[in-house]
Amino acid sequence: MVHMTSKADSVTLYRMRKILVELSTKKGSGTELVSLYIPPKKPLYDVSSYLKDEFGKASYIKSDSTRKHVQDALVKIMQRLKLYKETPETGLAIFCGALPPNPGAPPGSESMELYEVIPHKPIPSYLYRCDDHFHLEILREMIKEEKIIGIISIDNNEAGLGIVSGSRIDVIDVVTSGVSGKHRAGGQSARRFERLRETEINNYFKRVARHSKKVFFGQYEIQGLIVGGSGPTKDYFLKGEYLDYRLQDNVLTVVDTSYAGREGIRETVEKSEDILQDLRIIEEKELVKNFLSDISSDKGLVVYGIDEVINSLDMGNVNTVLVSEDINRIYFQVTCKRCGVVKESIVTQDSLIPEKQKLISEACSECNSNETELIEKDLIEFLVDKAMEIGAKVEVISSKSEDGVMFKSFGGIGAFLRY
Ligand SMILES: [Zn+2]
Repeated sequence: MVHMTSKADSVTLYRMRKILVELSTKKGSGTELVSLYIPPKKPLYDVSSYLKDEFGKASYIKSDSTRKHVQDALVKIMQRLKLYKETPETGLAIFCGALPPNPGAPPGSESMELYEVIPHKPIPSYLYRCDDHFHLEILREMIKEEKIIGIISIDNNEAGLGIVSGSRIDVIDVVTSGVSGKHRAGGQSARRFERLRETEINNYFKRVARHSKKVFFGQYEIQGLIVGGSGPTKDYFLKGEYLDYRLQDNVLTVVDTSYAGREGIRETVEKSEDILQDLRIIEEKELVKNFLSDISSDKGLVVYGIDEVINSLDMGNVNTVLVSEDINRIYFQVTCKRCGVVKESIVTQDSLIPEKQKLISEACSECNSNETELIEKDLIEFLVDKAMEIGAKVEVISSKSEDGVMFKSFGGIGAFLRY
């Protein structure tokens, strides 16, 4: 049986992916971007004294601007570490450096930025690097799906090899059989036809086994295998023990499907829900299915749309928020520093810059002051904060799965209500 490791919640994974995308494009003007990975149980005072040493060493850096940037980054990180009483249970990753507001911006326009990540599973080892880019390999390795299940969907004509992991199903390879039809050509003796057919099937099974080994060992490292298909071919294939014993021993279940090959893979996954139930794709399927059926049943226990969901959160009436990972919206809050009036708005990623300019330049509608404070938050983070206040949950729905796409057609945001 496959051992299930502890699963990351969808919000943590969303954050990690987002930071990875954002940081992978950042370049320092010199060797001045600091990446720091602190594994669990490493005392923070150890880290701080290490950083103090680095601060001292940095004084030998020749370039004025690089030296200043490195030392500023180290100070900023040490200040941040002081906010923690102890190292978080899974450790802590910090990325800090002087970054230009946009690529190609002139030197001197950089501002010191700090990103921190508390990952969903333990950081494996300590790392400190100062480079012209951030070191993201460890983080990238950590968000790789741990659980990958292989699928073989086989009948007389073809075999589809696929993998399912996280919220994706991928078809990796299709092997066609070339096996003659059930009916022999005129003049051929029945025995000769049967022999020929057997040889062809035998060769076909061997080919499927060879491809399986390549896909499920070489390309991917699967933790279990599900075999599906229409008719008895899959059973012959398994009984004949064509597969590498490591795959043969790791068959989790065999399911009957109406299709095989490429089309059969998805069906095989659907019919193996019990076995795959803690894969994210099955969880999402459940969430979206319940959401859609609640909408059609008209009980009034779901809402969708940004305003409706936020209203329900404000009333404390939300159990779970569902939101598409690529809803790509930003929440702005502008507070007048003089009279305290608060204005909120939510904009799309595309109109971010002009909207922000507008909000900054607008005078307060109450007192006409130009002194305002702007808070900018990713919409999903905003929802998470709001949900936390009332003890509700947020589920980030992938937009790659079939169910995720369906959910997106409702605007990519919805909520299950409490009453
Ligand atoms: Zn005002």
